Amino acid sequence: MAKTPRTTVRRHPERGAYDRAVIHDILDAGFLCHAGFVDGDQPFVIPTLYCRVEETLYLHGSPLSRMLGSLAGGIPLCVTVTHLDGIVMARSAFNSSINYRSVVVLGRGHLVEDEAQKRAAMDALVEQVVPGRTGDARAPTDKELAATSVIAVPMDEASAKIRTGPPKDPSFDLDLPIWAGEVPLRLEVGEPVPDPEMVADIPAPAYLRDVFRR
Ligand SMILES: Cc1cc2nc3c(=O)[nH]c(=O)nc-3n(C[C@H](O)[C@H](O)[C@H](O)COP(=O)(O)OP(=O)(O)OC[C@H]3O[C@@H](n4cnc5c(N)ncnc54)[C@H](O)[C@@H]3O)c2cc1C
Repeated sequence: MAKTPRTTVRRHPERGAYDRAVIHDILDAGFLCHAGFVDGDQPFVIPTLYCRVEETLYLHGSPLSRMLGSLAGGIPLCVTVTHLDGIVMARSAFNSSINYRSVVVLGRGHLVEDEAQKRAAMDALVEQVVPGRTGDARAPTDKELAATSVIAVPMDEASAKIRTGPPKDPSFDLDLPIWAGEVPLRLEVGEPVPDPEMVADIPAPAYLRDVFRR
């Protein structure tokens, strides 16, 4: 992906990455993003689901929501995805940090009007959260489809930023008798809890194992 003046990471530029494969990996490892946009004179940063299909991100929601209503108009948009990988405890407060992988996508979205593309995007959103689920889950009815807006965001301008490794203390701090290191962080997937209203004793689907693996 071409680095543009506005996607150039300025602080710690060595942590910036513009390679599509790196950006895809970070996007594919999650399904929660924050969509930033300005409505009137007020910026909003709204947490929401996303999926990636090739070079497009899809967001969805009620046509009545501020986010979907605003984004349908093609206003400038910033989508951010962040994975927390660790707390980096340096000997000083100043050099303490976080290990992370993040992506920032800049662009403008547009409403997906084509029904087949809209259904495919909605399936992709389900698959991004639980791969394999579209084989089971009831497909949206025409009414449900009409009650959902889908926004396509072409990934023309994007950057990744990644921090890994131990603290970077200056040499004059290394002799301090203070514990330093990294506390790894990860999102934990729990045991599935069956819905008590399930009509029969249905075993948990095999594809949930992939969710555990992720
Ligand atoms: C979990 C976490 C905690 C952080 N904590 C702090 C903090 O406390 N203070 C702080 O100053 N910074 C923090 N950062 C880094 C922060 O995200 C910015 O990278 C930082 O503010 C540097 O901005 P800049 O002026 O270099 O770039 P900006 O001018 O703000 O950004 C220029 C361009 O660089 C790219 N870019 C900038 N940051 C990122 C990113 N994180 N991921 C992908 N692309 C990016 C974007 O394309 C952006 O348009 C944190 C990041 C994460 C993920």
